[in-house]
Amino acid sequence: MTAKKTRAPRRSPRKSAKAAVKGPEYVLWEVSRSCPIGCAACRHSSLPPGSPGDLTTEQAVALIDSLAATYRPRLHLTGPEPLHRPDIFELAEYAIKKELSVVLCTNAVAYDVKVARQVVGARIRDIEISLDGASGRIHDSFRDNSGGFVQAIKGLDLVRLSGIKFGLSATLTGRNVEELPKLLNLSRKLGAQMLTLFFNVPTGRGRALAGDLVDTETYERWLNWIFEQQFLHRFPVRVVCSPQFERIYRQRASELPEDLDPMRQGQEHLLGRYGCLAAKDFCFIGNDGTVYPCPYLLEPAGNVLEEDFAKIWQKGTPFGVLRDTGGLGGKCGPCKFADMCSGCRALARAASDDFMAEDPVCEYQPA
Ligand code: SF4
Ligand code: SF4
Repeated sequence: MTAKKTRAPRRSPRKSAKAAVKGPEYVLWEVSRSCPIGCAACRHSSLPPGSPGDLTTEQAVALIDSLAATYRPRLHLTGPEPLHRPDIFELAEYAIKKELSVVLCTNAVAYDVKVARQVVGARIRDIEISLDGASGRIHDSFRDNSGGFVQAIKGLDLVRLSGIKFGLSATLTGRNVEELPKLLNLSRKLGAQMLTLFFNVPTGRGRALAGDLVDTETYERWLNWIFEQQFLHRFPVRVVCSPQFERIYRQRASELPEDLDPMRQGQEHLLGRYGCLAAKDFCFIGNDGTVYPCPYLLEPAGNVLEEDFAKIWQKGTPFGVLRDTGGLGGKCGPCKFADMCSGCRALARAASDDFMAEDPVCEYQPA
């Protein structure tokens, strides 16, 4: 993946397609920046345990109340490592009592028998574990922790023994992308419900891994491979934050046998949405309560300590701007897939300082 500087974007002649403002389907909440590992190349800007800046328990409870009273999004509790927040189970249990759906996102390194009991006690039903390789050699190379892979597999065994639904997630760079078939095999063998893939966005918190980028051609090849695994072989795998996957899906849907094509089966609602979801279906709340469109597009919209979350979500900048695909620039402007894809706005911002400019890594050239 190569992010090049682009010329000033050409604004789309297409009529503005402002989406109706519905609430986010899910919110990624960085409950803490703490992480005891503190890898040099951390893509989450981690801080040592005990560092100030995280919301207090009282403030965190108020945020949960505000989300539960309005949009009721699925709440992904993340961090560098959320298990290092001392009140994490108290918060998760509170959110679940408020009938929010909660997903705990962890590297599973700290997942021991005590944690397993606390997870069950808090009634957490959904866990996402990051695994960036099918072996210790690759997985541990992303971390300053040589036993990370073995610890994650042990943690994963405990999750499975507790009968809790879990998925795996991997961040892909040039270092591990060729491992994808092995990673999918491992994910199926371990009994994961889903393998979620994310091609690193070399901006914001992904900048630390910028040296290992996947080039555009390799990126397109693997997106096509994921399409085949997901739709032709029906393996539990999906990609997020590769908006062009929406374009690949639309371009290749006719290759699918009719009974395997959700669109021709009248089941479009079963399709995941692959385009950029920032400001449409999701947003990111940082550890200090600042709300952003996504963790890689750090354009602050407000802070939940000063304003209600719903008010921030309704704001014109940056959320309203992102929702208006009529404002897309460069080749994304006239592109027929723009309403579904939108291109990665974080990559556009990194390449041109304008988050509505064209996505610099998409191969497609609109006619
Ligand atoms: S801008 Fe959109 S596609 Fe890019 S990382 Fe953020 S949410 Fe994902
Ligand atoms: S040109 Fe832009 S909108 Fe069109 S498919 Fe590529 S990234 Fe998506």
